Amino acid sequence: MIKTVAAYRSKFILWVLIISCYSCTSNPKQIGIQPYGEPDKAIINSVTKILKETYNANVIVLDKKALPKQAFVNIKSPRYRADSLLKDLLRHRPDSIDFILGITSKDISTTKRDVNGNIKQPEAKYGDWGIFGLGYKPGKSCVISNFRLKNTTPKTYINRIQKIAVHEIGHNLGLPHCDTDKCVMQDAVETIKTVDLAGFELCKSCLHKIN
Ligand SMILES: [Zn+2]
Ligand SMILES: [Zn+2]
Repeated sequence: MIKTVAAYRSKFILWVLIISCYSCTSNPKQIGIQPYGEPDKAIINSVTKILKETYNANVIVLDKKALPKQAFVNIKSPRYRADSLLKDLLRHRPDSIDFILGITSKDISTTKRDVNGNIKQPEAKYGDWGIFGLGYKPGKSCVISNFRLKNTTPKTYINRIQKIAVHEIGHNLGLPHCDTDKCVMQDAVETIKTVDLAGFELCKSCLHKIN
């Protein structure tokens, strides 16, 4: 009798372990990559790989589409407003996808603001500020551009794109900027050097926040 109870108990524990393990792996995040314009295979493949590894996500590449005309501005130079692209991505996000990441080779920009929401001064500089990427925090869409990342070796170029993709999806998951050395959520503070010095990974503290 004692043996039977023990046997049932161990079977029960086994089932609990199987069910909890199943539930933690059965519902991975679905990330959709939206190429704006002709997709660059090397970029798409490297971003797919790093997002799968970092977020244990299913990554789907959506059909390419044109950049929305209403996002175009030519204030300092021809650019697409990243805020408009985030809205465009959100509007056309398939229901099956949790987060949608737009990728473009065109220059993208936003308005830089201070903590009070006022345009950072001088306005002529920050009103239409060229960026590497932008993502809602938290939210379901983000966008990255390879326009400002190219002036380097092919390896560093791909590494930069991967880090920025991981960074923007991190914002979608609610992560703020992080001061931890090498953490991919570090603020670029207006220079690509910060991106080059950062690692590909989320630090323990950032990982803890999203798990
Ligand atoms: Zn950021
Ligand atoms: Zn961190």
